[in-house]
Order: sequence, then structure tokens, then C-alpha cells
Amino acid sequence: MKINVGIDLGTTYSAVATFVKENGGVRIFKNGDGKECTPSVVCLSGGRVIIGEEAKEEQRNGNVDTAAFYKSMMGNENYAAYIGGGEYSAETLSGMFLTELIKDIEASNGVQIGGAVITVPAYFNEKQRNATIRAGEAAGLKVLKIINEPTAAIIAYGLTAGKEKNVLVYDLGGGTFDITIAHVNGTQIDVLATNGNHELGGKNWDAILIDYVQERFYSDYDVSIEDHPEDYKELQVKCEEAKKRLSQVSATTIMMQCEGLTGKYEVTKEYFDDMSRVLLEETLQLIQASFNEIGEAQGRSFGWADIDEVVLVGGSTRMPQVRDMIIAEYGKPPITKDINVDTIVATGAAMQAELCVSQTIQIRAGSLTQGAAGAFTGAATPKAPAMTLTISNSEIRDITSHSLGMLALSSDEKSYINSIIIKKNSYINKVFSKQYTFAGKALEVYVMQGESRDPYDCDILGKYVITGMPQGTKSQLSVNFLYNSNGVVEVNANLADGSRLTATKETVTESIDEIIARLKREKEEAEEAARRATCVEIVLAIDSSGSMGGNRIGKAKSSAQDFIDEFDLKHTYITVLSFGDQIKKVCTDSSSKGQITSAIRSITVGEVGYGTDARPIDAARGLYRREGHKILVVLTDGVWGNQVSETSAADSAKADGIIIYGIGIGEADQAFLDRISSNRGKKVDLSQLTTVFKEVATSIATEVSTTTLR
Ligand code: AMP
Repeated sequence: MKINVGIDLGTTYSAVATFVKENGGVRIFKNGDGKECTPSVVCLSGGRVIIGEEAKEEQRNGNVDTAAFYKSMMGNENYAAYIGGGEYSAETLSGMFLTELIKDIEASNGVQIGGAVITVPAYFNEKQRNATIRAGEAAGLKVLKIINEPTAAIIAYGLTAGKEKNVLVYDLGGGTFDITIAHVNGTQIDVLATNGNHELGGKNWDAILIDYVQERFYSDYDVSIEDHPEDYKELQVKCEEAKKRLSQVSATTIMMQCEGLTGKYEVTKEYFDDMSRVLLEETLQLIQASFNEIGEAQGRSFGWADIDEVVLVGGSTRMPQVRDMIIAEYGKPPITKDINVDTIVATGAAMQAELCVSQTIQIRAGSLTQGAAGAFTGAATPKAPAMTLTISNSEIRDITSHSLGMLALSSDEKSYINSIIIKKNSYINKVFSKQYTFAGKALEVYVMQGESRDPYDCDILGKYVITGMPQGTKSQLSVNFLYNSNGVVEVNANLADGSRLTATKETVTESIDEIIARLKREKEEAEEAARRATCVEIVLAIDSSGSMGGNRIGKAKSSAQDFIDEFDLKHTYITVLSFGDQIKKVCTDSSSKGQITSAIRSITVGEVGYGTDARPIDAARGLYRREGHKILVVLTDGVWGNQVSETSAADSAKADGIIIYGIGIGEADQAFLDRISSNRGKKVDLSQLTTVFKEVATSIATEVSTTTLR
């Protein structure tokens, strides 16, 4: 039967454990070397994948085909290890490592592994979590859940902690640092805050010694060890070993050979502690940041005095300076007794793996009174007497270590910002929604991860395209965001009536600069198109020839005035022509009602001749100045001298996108009006002139609101 395991996939070491139901305890598996922890090192040798101690030995011997510390590069597209003649991402290396680790554990322990809970630093972001899931799958594992390393430690630790307390987990591993503060009440674990730096860990402490030896070697021999990759790898291993020795003794010696030269250097603990103080300070600052965040959330000041227990996790917490710093700040020592800092994370992960399938687990708490999670570990966990603890899956509430936002226009519409939707330290599995009123076909949402309002400081997680909204109307829709149990983001959308829309995640290939530049461009284009779409230029040509005398001209002028009154002149520009034998521009390109009114009033019969030899259509064609809707309204009461050429001028005008309305009264010719008009001409009685002008105004308004511009 296949078993489920918890895997602490560490930067430097990894461990695998399983919960043994019958014993009510956790079994940490030993690898082929008989060790509980396997170095997370990969070596490619002659087409063979070597991991663990053997790979580390290769690294120690200067084999350049080894890769270590790749975990901190998880999800980083710019990272590649060039080993064994190939190029490998951190995800691929993790997958290879896990494959070999599982094979080794299965063979050495006579078990078959099916599902796994894999731990990640709480500070891992979306990309890093997804990369971890894929690495597990590449190793043939069913990834049951991704949980945060400190949370795993608290699960393992918290189970034994009877009374209500605030626990601070200080997790300093090989390449990552995590600080997590949780409220533990019996079996309920509420994470309050989490912070971290996934580029800070034991390797930075190693670097102090590496730099020290390199400098001494260079000053002695003028030789840079860094230029010799094989020797440099050896130096890395030697310095890590020296660092570990300094956890026990006050001084140690590092011997290094390069180019046939030998250097022997003594390092004191005092020097090492001095040089690494700044690194320790960084961890302290992140603790303070967590205190501040909790204080802000709880509306009170929160500090060391509010912490009941400090738990150390990760191999680097073996350095006495960590414990000393905690004592200096906290006033009390951290709990270390009986807790194995190397395996506590795997222990919690194993418990979580069982919780994923059983929902509750029973812990046989043989040594509960000692308050030590370590008591549950070991292959032959003794069957304890009466006491059992039950924990249920729903009682572990984790939080998100990164805020989730979306790219949005700032309220002054001047810039793009990361508008935060789910604040850091919010509980996972809780849905946060954003409402939209939207009329288009597809709503694009760029999801970001990061604390800053400035999108340039954030990671783009992806673009979600929401579709399926009813068309031709504005929809009220809700876009819902959630961090799932793995801390991975999920986005979906629904309409106000609850019906689901389609949300498709698309990979983003553009950089944030390119996206913002494109969105700005699209916004300007949309504004310009909207401006153009509502801009209307109307040329109103009124016949003032002799035949318009009597009451015709008066009625024409009042109807034209009513026509003008139909328009909101914000984006409408009017030119009025009076024509007879010639043409007079009585007003040009005006948006002023007063100006247009007095221009219309000023028209008198015969002012430009008593005949109709002018060519108003031809003249109007050259008067349009803008992009927008171009309208020509011609009112006449007779037959023109230049009907043929004006018909062809009308055809050219229409080809230019000008819409012509021909209105006729009196002796006007319907056939000619039809020829010049875009639709049919309108020959009417004088009494109907006002109505016709109003109809034309309505038709123009419809045209503007529904037509896309040519
Ligand atoms: P982890 O990733 O939790 O397995 O932590 C591994 C890190 O702990 C590595 O950087 C180790 O060098 C470091 N480490 C392990 N043991 C000691 C020790 N005794 N003193 C100092 N650092 C140690």
C-alpha cells in the first residue's frame, strides 16, 4: 500500500516523514546512508543523477557538475545551473532531487510513497509555490498540499502545547529566513503574521568565511580562488564545515589549497560573530516588521512581551549567536530542548499529510508533559498510555505572506497602480471580490503580488481574461480572488445573478513597462475615438434666392433655429450658408448658440442674388475641419441652375463620408433632392418644415450614437 509523506524540501537539507496511525506518532525516514537529513545537492555524472551525501562529496571535491542552493532560485526564469553539459532550472533540479530522494527512501525503508505534503518557506510567492508543486509532480508524487515551513513546525510543536499562547517561529535554514508568529490555542493554530527573506540563510554566514579565506589567500599568494571553480566549490564546503565547528568551539582553522599553494587560516568565533552581526540584525528587523503588522491589525502595540514561546527551526539556528540574540531581545531562551531543528518541519508536514486524507488525527502523546514535539518522532514511537490529542484539518488557519492586487488606474487617472485586494496576513481560503460595471466583450485583469502601490515593484502573476458577459448592455460583474490552501492564487468571476463567467488565465510575456505603456496607449486611443465619435460638424445651407420671399424665409429661419436647439453644442460645430447666385457664410464653425441664432436671423432674401446659380454642396465639401461626423443639411424651394454638377458634388461629398439631408419646400424637385441626399430627400409643405427639421436632428443624433466612424 502506498503511504503519504511530509517532505521538508530544504535549501541545504531535506527530510521525509510519515505519520504512523497505529503509533499515533511520526516516523522520520532514514536514507540509504542511514541519515534522517539528505543534502539537497544534485550532481550529474556520466548521465547519472546523484544526490545527497554523495553529491555533496562531489561538490566538496570540486566537481563543477554539482548544483546546490537552487531552491532559493525556484520560480526565477533567469536562473539556470549549467551542469553535466545541460542547462537546468531550479524547478527541474528540485524534480530530479525529489525523484532520487523518493527512490532512496522507498528502497531503504521498504515503503511505497504516493502522496506528499511539501513544505515551502512562508515567504515563497506564487511562482515559487507553483514551481514546487510541479517539481513534486515531476517526481511522480501526488502533491496533497503545499504548506509553510513555520506552520509545519507549529503543527508539530503546537500539538503538544496545551495552553493558549503566542508562538514565534524563527526559521533560519541554509538559504532562507522565515519569521512566523501564531496564536496557538489548544489544537487551534492561527497564524498572525509572517515575513521572510528567501535570500538570507546559512550560506550568507558561509560567505563571511569564504571571503575571509579568499582575501587572506590573495594577499599571501596573489591568487584568486574564485577563478578556479573546482577549488572554489571545495572552499564553499570547507567554510560551511568551519562555520559548524564555530558553533562548538571558539576558534578553528581552515586549510585551503589552490594552484599547488597552501594557506592555513585561523578564524575566531569573535571575528565570525562580529562580521555576521549585520545578518542577524536583518532577521531582527523582520521580526519587528511582524510585530508592527500584528499591532496594526489588533490596534495595539505588540512586541516581545506578547510572545509566550520562541521556537527555533532550521540548521542555522544551531549557531550560538542566534540563541544569544533571542535571549538579549526576549529576555528568555528559546525552546530547543528535545526539538530536532532539522526534522521538525518534516514532522509537521507528515501530520498535515495524514490530515489531508483523514481530516482528524490522533496523537498518542506519551511525553506531552515534557512539551516537546520531538517526543513524537522516531521510527519506534512508543505506544503511550492514555493521553491522546485530536487535531482537525479545519483548525489550522494559515495566512498569506504577500498582498494580492491588480493593475488599476489611479483615482486621478494619471498613473497605473497596484490596487491591493487581499492584504498580506489575510487568511487563506477567503474570497475577496471586486465589482465592475462593464460593457465590452472581454475584461482583462492583471493580477499582481507585492506590497507596494507602485506596480514596478511587484510581480505580475498573470492576466485573467473574463468573458461570457451578455453583449449590447452594461453588466454588473464580480471578479473574485482567493489564495487557496496551497497559497496559490485562484481567480473567477460571476454576474450579479450569480451565474459564472469564464476566467481564463493567460501567461504574460510583456514586462510591466510594456504593459503599462500599452494600456496608456490604448486608453488614449479609446479617448480619442470617443472624442471623434461624438464630434459633429453640421453645415446648414439655406436657400435665400428670390423665391424664398414671403413667409417661406421666416418659416425656414425659425425651423432652422428649432433644429439647432435640438443639439447640445459641446461637441457640435455649425456653419450656416445662405445661398442664391452666390454663397455667404453667415457663421463659421461655431458652437455658440447666440452666434448661430443671430447668424440665422441675419439671412435676408436676395442678399447673395435672386437666382440659384451658386453651388452650395460643392462649397460645403471644403468646410469640414475635424474628424467626426460630417453633416450637410440643404434647404431649398426651387430648381437650381447647376443641378448636374451639384449632383456629382453630392456624390463626392458622400464618398468623403458627408451625410446629406436634402429638404425641399415650394417648387423644389423631389427627384433632385433624392439624388443629392444620402437617403431619400424630404419634400414637404411649409407647415411641416419644423417637424422635418426635428426628424433630421433625431436622425443625426441616432447616427452619432450608433455609427462607428469611417
Ligand atoms: P536547513 O536548510 O534547515 O537544513 O539548514 C541548513 C543550514 O544550517 C546550513 O547552512 C548549515 O550549514 C547550517 N547548519 C547546520 N548545522 C549547523 C551548526 N551546527 N552550526 C551552524 N550552522 C549549521
